[in-house]
Amino acid sequence: MTHDGRPIIPIFQDEPARRRFLKLMAASAALAGAGCSGPPAEPIVPYVTMPEQGVPGLPMFYATAYVRRGIANGVLVESNMGRPTKVEGNPDHPVGAGATDVFAQASILQLWDPDRSQAVFRGEEMSTWGAFEAALQARRPRFERDGGAGLRILTGTVTSPTLARQLAALQQRLPNARWHAWDPLHDDGAAAASRLAFGRDLDPSYHLEAARVVLALDADLFGALPGSLAHARSFTAPRRLGARADANRLYVLEATPTLTGAYADARLARTPHAIEAALWRIAARLGAAPDAGRAADPQLDRWEAAAAQALAGARGHALVVAGPALSPAARALAYALNQRLNPGADGPQAFIDPVERSPLDHGASLAALADDMRAGRVDTLIMLDANPAYDAPADVDFATLLRQVPLSAHLGLYRDETARAAGWHLPLAHCYEAWSDARAHEGTATIVQPLIAPLYGGRSAHEILALLAGADSRDGHAIVRATWTGQGTEADERTWRASLRRGIVDGSTARPVAAPVAQAVQRVDAPAPAPLVAVFAPDPAVDGGAFANNAWLQELPRPLTSLTWDNAALVGPATARQQGLADGAVARLRVDGRTIEAPVLVVAGQAEGVVTLPLGYGRRAAGGVGEGVGFDAYRLRTRAALAAPRPLLLERTGRKHDFARRQREVDMQGRDPVHVAALADLSSVKREQPQHASMYPEQAWDGYKWGMAIDLNACIGCAACTIACQAENNIPVVGKEEVQRGRSMHWIRVDRYEAGARTLFQPVPCMHCEHAPCEEVCPVGATMHDSEGLNVQVYNRCIGTRFCSNNCPYKVRRFNFLQYSNRTAESLKALQNPEVTVRRRGVMEKCSYCLQRITRARIEAEKAGRRIHDGEMVTACQAACPTRAIRFGDLNDPSSDVVAAKASPLDYHLLEELNTRPRTSYTTRVLNPDPELE
Ligand code: SF4
Repeated sequence: MTHDGRPIIPIFQDEPARRRFLKLMAASAALAGAGCSGPPAEPIVPYVTMPEQGVPGLPMFYATAYVRRGIANGVLVESNMGRPTKVEGNPDHPVGAGATDVFAQASILQLWDPDRSQAVFRGEEMSTWGAFEAALQARRPRFERDGGAGLRILTGTVTSPTLARQLAALQQRLPNARWHAWDPLHDDGAAAASRLAFGRDLDPSYHLEAARVVLALDADLFGALPGSLAHARSFTAPRRLGARADANRLYVLEATPTLTGAYADARLARTPHAIEAALWRIAARLGAAPDAGRAADPQLDRWEAAAAQALAGARGHALVVAGPALSPAARALAYALNQRLNPGADGPQAFIDPVERSPLDHGASLAALADDMRAGRVDTLIMLDANPAYDAPADVDFATLLRQVPLSAHLGLYRDETARAAGWHLPLAHCYEAWSDARAHEGTATIVQPLIAPLYGGRSAHEILALLAGADSRDGHAIVRATWTGQGTEADERTWRASLRRGIVDGSTARPVAAPVAQAVQRVDAPAPAPLVAVFAPDPAVDGGAFANNAWLQELPRPLTSLTWDNAALVGPATARQQGLADGAVARLRVDGRTIEAPVLVVAGQAEGVVTLPLGYGRRAAGGVGEGVGFDAYRLRTRAALAAPRPLLLERTGRKHDFARRQREVDMQGRDPVHVAALADLSSVKREQPQHASMYPEQAWDGYKWGMAIDLNACIGCAACTIACQAENNIPVVGKEEVQRGRSMHWIRVDRYEAGARTLFQPVPCMHCEHAPCEEVCPVGATMHDSEGLNVQVYNRCIGTRFCSNNCPYKVRRFNFLQYSNRTAESLKALQNPEVTVRRRGVMEKCSYCLQRITRARIEAEKAGRRIHDGEMVTACQAACPTRAIRFGDLNDPSSDVVAAKASPLDYHLLEELNTRPRTSYTTRVLNPDPELE
């Protein structure tokens, strides 16, 4: 405190850092009124369980989809008086079943991002839609004459039935025009594998609920692969509360630590080359491939034997998944192996017709486009939501080719690298601003309905294609509706409205097709591995770069490295020692004759001899948040490296880079914050019931008594809960420099521990202690219990002494050292949840168990003259969690889910010995190791 009693609030020590922080979320000019663009002109339909007419002050929910890389994620978007403010999973959607991932949660910040493109540009000059339309119209007579000979359209992955219909119609009308597709993270090998195995294009569909043994070979089933939400949910379901931890077992061989590997019962890190060879040997052991000898590496040999034996023992319920880094032949072998292991029709592997409508080999498609551009055959290039000037293979040099095209136009959310190299840039309407449709990875279609009219006058890809085709109607609503309402009969109209209400089109889920028995595939021997190879991977937070300007995601600690605001070349400990590298050492990396410099991070569990380079960073035109953050690994990624590892040369530069990692200590130091029990010892696990004495009288909570139970058997460490909490509770970002000072504002963090070869995750929100150490030391009673026993924080009383935080053993209190919440950007004001106070500088804040949701549920219950039902009050973290790891409810309700969880002998309290009596408890993680490998 100062002499006159005011709280001491530190200021930034370095002014440039402060300016950078302000820049993070600062509004661009011309934002006034951005939050007032109003509802879309056409009628949109609220989610089925919500009232038809909105009540002022009550949020409305709309079922729609968040479309990422062309794939629909079924969501409900909360709209407060016309402002979309929060994304929830759609419980009716078969993939998410009510859950979401970090990208869907953070998509709401993307919608309101003040750095989004706000104007049409012609070169560097601001222009108008009218000028662009005129430029395009001038070419249309020639297109009609020559069948669109010089016209090329570049899209990302297309699953949208409407976009596919429009493109097909355009191609019919202009047969010489060409459609190309480019998504830098597209799995080109999947189609090649399917053709090798079955002679046709099919998408695999995995049903982990039907699998008792799963072998994942460089396949991140719970993270990067399509369907990750469904995979994680169905695999962890039988293990919830440790009940049937022996129900299934997961074997993982991978080069880089992933969420799937972290959950594995048996995991080994090996190079992609070694993993591919292991698959052939395992297949040979199971009689699905010719004898491939034994692994020279005894540990791998033992591991392969155990995995093969487990797969053989689980016939009918065995699944092998080979990831995108493996060759098409190896992946085809995995399909064949699954068919052999599961001869029945209801095994864990099925096939469906491809969900994607665009060309399936994006690498080849982009290369063909580049060839045409180089040869001068492209006169007009329209790029719809793609950024090849940044993420195309390094040997294509797309930006240079683009500048040679007489008329090029880029439609995108940001004025990005491609926008700056193109002749025209057109602002794209966000998927919460425009009509569209898209399919989930298993085919389910969702009609994407806008919740708000475009904030910055953006248009959708459908509207641009209609313009290009000279269609009579360029109205997005009419275009999408035409796909689904056919003849416009009354029945069509009912189906349309029902689809909008539920967020899915009934009957659209793809039916499994009978895939013929896979053909014997020929093993293709890869060249001998180099001593050091580079592999490229999407970043867990910014993906391929599309989320680089999303501050929530930039500040989200990456699950396996705790890194924020950066990427790093990931190396294993032995490789680092060999190369004389330590964390932060800047290395020069050379792949296929191209060189970049990148800081190194040493990661336990990384395969030795493999350097993983996360993509999506080093943006040159991303917006104020993402520009200049990290290094650009695309500059090393040639066509040959799209999936396969490439030889790498590495040398030290002697320079050092400072990372910002949220958690540095991953050893439990013998204090056991995560309780672990082996399945074999389960019967002897007794509930710990310490009887600590207390000076205070026991308090009875007669009304509601809220509590939370977090099941560590279900938690996969995805951190969707962290971003959901951030969105719900108006939690600001602090910026890299503040994270380096050990500060962050997340109300629920996900701790990670490395215990031997195992990775353990533990989400940690406020424990809402009955004996709260924070309350005893607060000089002004700003932290206190409410009438339901919640440990609440009264912001207006807080004077910022931070005694409470110092006395909190769980370190879950967050202090606003600076004015972290943005008070200037108009659009970011509109993002805020109106039910949650935006905290000012100098106050303490923390998890409130989503008090505003409890209040809303209480009001509804009181109006109906009843108590809140179990399951009616769902916290934001609980709602987002894909694996239902979080349970919340009334501890006074004996039939509640949370009481059942807490009754388990595996339930325990974090730091129980401190007698804080937390309301939040955990379920001991039960391990199901393979006895052959222990
Ligand atoms: Fe992911 Fe959080 Fe659920 Fe764990 S508790 S699975 S980190 S959402």
